[in-house]
Amino acid sequence: MRIGTPQSKNATRVMLLGSGELGKEVIISLQRLGVEVIAVDRYENAPGHQVAHRAHVIDMTDADALRSLILAEQPDIIVPEIEAIATAMLIEIEEQGIAKVIPNARAVNLTMNREGIRRLAGEKLGLPTSTYEFANSLEELEAAASRIGYPLLVKPVMSSSGKGQSFVRDRSGLDEAWEYAASGGRVDQGRVIVEGFIDFDYEITQLTVRALGSSGEIETHFCEPVGHVQVKGDYVESWQPMRMSSSALARAREIARAVTEDLGGTGVFGVELFVKGDEVWFSEVSPRPHDTGLVTLATQRQSEFELHARALLGLPVDTSMREPGASAVIYGGLEAKGIAFEGLEEALAVPGSDLRLFGKPESFARRRMGVALAVAESSEEARIRAKQAAALVRPVISG
Ligand code: AMP
Repeated sequence: MRIGTPQSKNATRVMLLGSGELGKEVIISLQRLGVEVIAVDRYENAPGHQVAHRAHVIDMTDADALRSLILAEQPDIIVPEIEAIATAMLIEIEEQGIAKVIPNARAVNLTMNREGIRRLAGEKLGLPTSTYEFANSLEELEAAASRIGYPLLVKPVMSSSGKGQSFVRDRSGLDEAWEYAASGGRVDQGRVIVEGFIDFDYEITQLTVRALGSSGEIETHFCEPVGHVQVKGDYVESWQPMRMSSSALARAREIARAVTEDLGGTGVFGVELFVKGDEVWFSEVSPRPHDTGLVTLATQRQSEFELHARALLGLPVDTSMREPGASAVIYGGLEAKGIAFEGLEEALAVPGSDLRLFGKPESFARRRMGVALAVAESSEEARIRAKQAAALVRPVISG
């Protein structure tokens, strides 16, 4: 492995497909290693655009536009940071040897759709998941729901972060759930997954890193488990480590290993799991850093973003934790372009705290605009500090 000089003939070039807050941190990690970075997103001045060598705005679901850009920029490595990408085209790019895709094109293609990953985990690997069925119409949804039983969840197969997702208590909620799924899904709007509700005690993200070891073989590394709270399918706070029984942790890692070994390649994976007592269910996997893993910016020797950067370059990783910590999301709270943030002095006066403001050009009430981080002697104390710091940051209309 060698890294060249950015913006010269021997540069090591990495292209990020999706340049939000997670991509921004991956880019910063790559920049520190002297990599030339090209950031792509669907809108101008995205967070990652602001820290890359070059920035492009294209519709990444447009296979032709994406292919042309890849051929023009000639990256060595392509790093998908979002799911809404023309992933079938990435398979061609990989097959033709044009660029390497992280972790690999098949994994990216499989995980962009809830159906692909669910069939892999539940049917091919036989891992425990919620009961589930797929439906293409309201009639099929009604039939599936009566077999699965209530309460249940209805989710578009093409969506993430709770978009278009409904919790349904009984039959009377199905019409609305179907309509909502159709409006919240991407691309393929007519297909939903119906999932039996799991009454878990807590949920975790098991960050799992596949990286080249000194033997030249890919090795699997686990971070300490990340606990988190979701509201309407969107993460609001996370902490590390999540205290859990040793048998639940062992089971979680067994599941994470099985899924990530099947997906293959190198990089960070966010394996989402539900836990009740010692029982663990697989929920989802992202073949990239996970939003709940923002906490690792404060807690680990190498954050999940640094781990991803190293693993994708074929370099060794260290997943050890430094100290317990937590993250709490800062929402826009208002709808405006070019907002400002106040209260930063107070927020950063909270002991052990830190902030990331993502620099998004436009704020929405529920848009994630930043995150407060905090370390402490325990995750519990860190959660209090992170929430305190987040609450002190005030998004304002800038005059
Ligand atoms: P997802 O978009 O599939 O990651 O779901 C977002 C969140 O909804 C999860 O993190 C859980 O908090 C909740 N959730 C999703 N599926 C289920 C399920 N089958 N049972 C219980 N809670 C769920």
